[in-house]
Amino acid sequence: MPELLSIEDALARILERVRPLPSETIPLEEAAGRVLAEDVPAVVDLPPFPSSAMDGFAVRAADTPGKLPVVFRIAAGRPAPRALEAGEAMGIATGGVVPEGADAVVPIEYVVASDNSVEIPEPVSEGANLRPRGGDIRAGEVVVSRGTSLGPGQIGALAAVGVSEVRCGARPRASVLTTGTELRSPGEVLGPGEIYEANGVMLAAQLAAAGAAVERLAAVEDDEGAHRAALERGLESDVLVTSGGVSVGPHDLVRAIESELGVEEVFWGVAVKPGKPLSFGVRGRTLAFGLPGNPVSSLVGLELFVRPAVLALQGAADPGPVFETGRLAAAVRRNPARDQLVRARRGQGDAGAVLEPLGGQESHMIARAASADALVLAPRGEGELQAGSAVRFLRLG
Ligand code: AMP
Ligand code: MG
Repeated sequence: MPELLSIEDALARILERVRPLPSETIPLEEAAGRVLAEDVPAVVDLPPFPSSAMDGFAVRAADTPGKLPVVFRIAAGRPAPRALEAGEAMGIATGGVVPEGADAVVPIEYVVASDNSVEIPEPVSEGANLRPRGGDIRAGEVVVSRGTSLGPGQIGALAAVGVSEVRCGARPRASVLTTGTELRSPGEVLGPGEIYEANGVMLAAQLAAAGAAVERLAAVEDDEGAHRAALERGLESDVLVTSGGVSVGPHDLVRAIESELGVEEVFWGVAVKPGKPLSFGVRGRTLAFGLPGNPVSSLVGLELFVRPAVLALQGAADPGPVFETGRLAAAVRRNPARDQLVRARRGQGDAGAVLEPLGGQESHMIARAASADALVLAPRGEGELQAGSAVRFLRLG
């Protein structure tokens, strides 16, 4: 294996090969999880009219304190037929249009109301409980900018300013191919030397969470013909993710067959544990990731390298991986040659996240990894990271 790349260098080499996909217009209803392809301006001022923040009475501040006749009752969506005159009050609901002439709303809790008058015992200041037109955003201003991944908050904001359709990066088509003669599908009976195929369903779930449209190819044995046919098919996607067969054994065929099929290898080998023999190549616009077969290596490789590529294909401004900071709850032994991604459980301390490393850190131990919700980065080096050390970590979805 050639000299190992650092995680940063590997990621940089991947991202420089990404050509974002064209964008498409989709209904806002379908935009959750997608990446916005253009700055989206507000269609209207928000709020679109001066509105009441409370249930109460619209008045002129100068008329308070005092007893005022109630000349109209304003419901949300039903503006008053005329302006408020000096010395008058109008009942108003939260979200109702504050009538012209009024400059404050007195909450119902602070008045003594009767059928057609209201007594306001305390003075009210001008502007109280009144949401000015455009106080949130003005028509024409950008609500959400291009390159943003649309979560619930952004979708709500876009709807509130009147946007019904958005341009988003197309969803990358991703193929998942697992390799290994020993693999059986869950649900079948295991023969001697066989194990259940775990990576396909896992990688498909990770890719879908990153916004890809996933096609799962049938697992292939360690056979050249089977590899060739399946890899050829997978290379028609925007992203091909394979698991297994990228190490140095005689049955590791993925890289050789990909090369025959015209894939230009960009790198092979990253100074990361787990996941060292990861390969990355390109054919035309297709990105081909060869993840090592140990399930935890596949899981980590996808989060570190494939997910950012899938987001960058969609035009994400910041494709990640997004590391957060926290403190170790227990010591972690460092690896002298490779950065480690340590499976951990995230807790909350007084001063932020606390990461509890889990027992069973070997790359085949996917069952132990099931209780992890974080990957702690332990940079390569000598000795231990002490309990309490500041560390960076990735969330596991
Ligand atoms: P490989 O990278 O092909 O050398 O595989 C490394 C280890 O991961 C071997 O023990 C394989 O049996 C195991 N492995 C490979 N692919 C899978 C898979 N899809 N699901 C579960 N284990 C796998
Ligand atoms: Mg194998």
